[in-house]
Amino acid sequence: MQRLQAFKYELRPTGEQERQMRRFAGACRFVFNQALALQKANHEAGGKFISYVAMAKHLTAWRNGAQTPWLKEAPVHPLQHALKDLDRAYANFFAQRAAFPRFKNKGQRDSFRYPDAKQFRLDAANARIFLPKLGWMRLRLSRSLLGVPCNATVSLSGGKWFVSIQTEREVDQPVPKSGSAIGIDVGIARFATMSDGSYLAPLHSFKRHEAHLRRYQRAMSRKVKFSSNWKKAKARVQRLHARIGNARRDYLHKATTTISQNHAMVCIEDLQVRNMSQSAKGDAEKPGKNVQAKSGLNKAILDQGWAEFRRQLDYKLAWNGGLLIAVPPQNTSRTCPVCGCVSADNRKVQAVFRCVECGHEGHADHIGAINILARGHRVAACGEDVSHAKSARARRAASVKQDPTEATCSGAAPARGAVGIPRL
Ligand SMILES: [Zn+2]
Repeated sequence: MQRLQAFKYELRPTGEQERQMRRFAGACRFVFNQALALQKANHEAGGKFISYVAMAKHLTAWRNGAQTPWLKEAPVHPLQHALKDLDRAYANFFAQRAAFPRFKNKGQRDSFRYPDAKQFRLDAANARIFLPKLGWMRLRLSRSLLGVPCNATVSLSGGKWFVSIQTEREVDQPVPKSGSAIGIDVGIARFATMSDGSYLAPLHSFKRHEAHLRRYQRAMSRKVKFSSNWKKAKARVQRLHARIGNARRDYLHKATTTISQNHAMVCIEDLQVRNMSQSAKGDAEKPGKNVQAKSGLNKAILDQGWAEFRRQLDYKLAWNGGLLIAVPPQNTSRTCPVCGCVSADNRKVQAVFRCVECGHEGHADHIGAINILARGHRVAACGEDVSHAKSARARRAASVKQDPTEATCSGAAPARGAVGIPRL
C-alpha cells in the first residue's frame, strides 16, 4: 500500500535567509495575483480561459520584463507552482467545489513550494536542508523523515518559518488490531460521544483564548495602521492565533489516533460542516433568525474542528486497516434505539432523550451514537454507499444536524459568548 505523508519541521533561518523567504513568498503572491488579474481581464474581454502552459509564458515575460526585475531573483519553480495553484483554484471553482479564486494578501498564509524533490536536499545527520537560492538552512528535526520526498513547502505561521516535506513510501497492507465497531456522535457540549457510552470533553481552544484575543485585537485597532507598534500588536494577535490552532490540532490528532487504533469500523454522521456554519446574518433578502445565538453556535462548531476530525479519522483508519463509514444524519438524535419510534418530542432538551412510546431514557448524544452505529452496520451489511448515493447538493440540503438548538435559543437571549445550549 502506498502511503503519502507529510513531515513538518520548524526552520531556523539566518536573518538574510528570512528576508529572502519573505521576498520569495511575496513574489509567488505577486505572480498568483497578476495571473488572476489577467485571467479576469481576459474573461471580461470575451477571451477563453488561459491554460497553465499559456500562463507560464506570461510568467517568463514578467520575469524578463523591465517592470518587475525582482521576480528574477526568486526561484522559478515556486513561481510556476503559484500558477498551478491558481489553475487548481479555477478547476475547483468550475467543479463547484469552491468559491471563485480571490486575490492573496500579504501576511495570509505566506508560503511557496518547491514542487520537485530534485530541487532540495535534506541532510538529516546535520539537521539541515538545502533550498535553491537560500542555501543550507538549519531546521529542528523533531522526528525522522520516512519515505521518498516528493515536494517541499515553506510557510510562515505565527512569526515562525516551517518546511513541510511530502513523502511517499510502500507499507504493508495494514491489519486492524481489534475487530470492534463504534458509532460517534459529535456535539458542542461533548466533543465526541461513543456508542459504548464514553465521551471526549471539548477543548474549546478558541473560546479559552477569546478574551485575550479580543484584548489584543482592540490594542491593535488603536494603533496607527502600518506603524511599528501596529506591527508588533499584529504579531501578537498572529502568535495567539497560531497557539489556538496548535492546541486544536494537537487535541484532534490525539483523539483520532486513539480511536483509529482501537476500532476497525467507525461510523459518523455525514455532516456538511460548511453548510451548518453558514453566516448567521444571512443576506439582505433573507435575514437570519437568532443571529447572535447562531453566530455563537457557528463559532463553537468551527472551534471544535469537526471537519478536520473526520478527515483525520478517515486517513488514520485507512492506515490502520480500518474503515470510516459516514451515515445519513437524519433523525439520529430523535430515534429510539429500543422501539424505533421517531419523534421530535423524544428530545425536548439538548442533553436528555426520553422516548414518548416506550419511555426509554438516556443521554441524547449517547443515543445518537448508538443509532449512528446501527445505521453504519446496515450500510456495511447492505454494501450500499450512502455517502455518495445522492448528489452533493441534495446531500448538503439534507445533512443538517437536528439538535434542538433553535428551540432552546428562541427563549431568553443567550449570554454573550454562550452558544445557546444548556450546559450539562
Ligand atoms: Zn422507544
